[in-house]
Amino acid sequence: MKKFLTVGIALIAVLFVGLQIAKPKLVEKGFAKMVSQNLGVDRTVNLEDGLHVYICGAGSPLPDPKRSGPCIGVLAGNQAFVFDAGSGGSRNLGPMGFPTGRTEQIFLTHLHSDHLDGLGEMLLGTWINGNRSTPTPVSGPVGTTKVVDGFNAAYRIDSTYRTAHHGTDIANPSGFGATANEIDFTADSQLVLIDGDIKITAFKVNHEPVSPAFGYRIDYKDRSIAISGDTAYDPNVAEASKGVDVLFHEALNMDMVKTMQAGAENNGAKRMAKIMYDIRDYHTSPVDAAKTAEAAGAKALVLYHIVPMLPNDALIPMFVKGAADEFASKITVSEDGTIVRLPAGSDSILYDNGL
Ligand SMILES: [Zn+2]
Ligand SMILES: [Zn+2]
Repeated sequence: MKKFLTVGIALIAVLFVGLQIAKPKLVEKGFAKMVSQNLGVDRTVNLEDGLHVYICGAGSPLPDPKRSGPCIGVLAGNQAFVFDAGSGGSRNLGPMGFPTGRTEQIFLTHLHSDHLDGLGEMLLGTWINGNRSTPTPVSGPVGTTKVVDGFNAAYRIDSTYRTAHHGTDIANPSGFGATANEIDFTADSQLVLIDGDIKITAFKVNHEPVSPAFGYRIDYKDRSIAISGDTAYDPNVAEASKGVDVLFHEALNMDMVKTMQAGAENNGAKRMAKIMYDIRDYHTSPVDAAKTAEAAGAKALVLYHIVPMLPNDALIPMFVKGAADEFASKITVSEDGTIVRLPAGSDSILYDNGL
């Protein structure tokens, strides 16, 4: 018995030592395999024709480990667009399989910094990955020119290093940066792009004192979505989103933010408490977002620009409490990586996670 035990222990020891020796080799093989299966692979090639929506940033200015700053990639057929460029968003687009290098245009909903603080990084991606010979167009409300000029100035020195190091084939100076296109209209909504089967409409939302502030509706063949941008509960969102397949709406849970305000007050953090009070009047609760989706006749609702942070999924039922009473169809609380696919010529709405 003792002999068997000794042999057994010796065998385990040999196996353990063998594994330690083999482990780095396995990791090296795994790394090489992962690289060859992913790096530079165009993951849109086998996608069915349709409208594909990539939530690259589901969050707000509040830090949330599952949610970067606001960022939504839209692939309509083979045309790629990005709506808002919040911090961290562009880092998620590549891993999610979004063709950053093919981004035709970036649209800003409004000029709050959390919607554009990742713009420099995003433009570096559209330039270098896209082999561009002209700057990337950035469209947004009046003021967009100043923002774009600022980013171009901030990144110009870096761009000279890129060109010097990689050469003009990789970093063509004439493709660096962005050109601004200011969208200005007096009506409630305005068609801002029509190209083949895709149609993009900007519509006004109420995010006072941030004015103008837009949402966008995107129609591609027989499928459609709307993106609310940042807005208080506003009937114009439902009006502009009539009959869309999916409404992507910002959401702030008023009760949870009130609890944060009270907590900050208790801790003597008066400035924090004041901010928690202020932010409630220019955002929309999940319940009101659900009412908007119902009024629009949307087939599904995806919440993004989530406030407060929801680092644990156990908080989600509290966040959406009461929303299902207002909207009978599916409600999703998005996180970075959420992908919604709307194949053309079909009614289906497919959900995926790209991260
Ligand atoms: Zn915001
Ligand atoms: Zn805002």
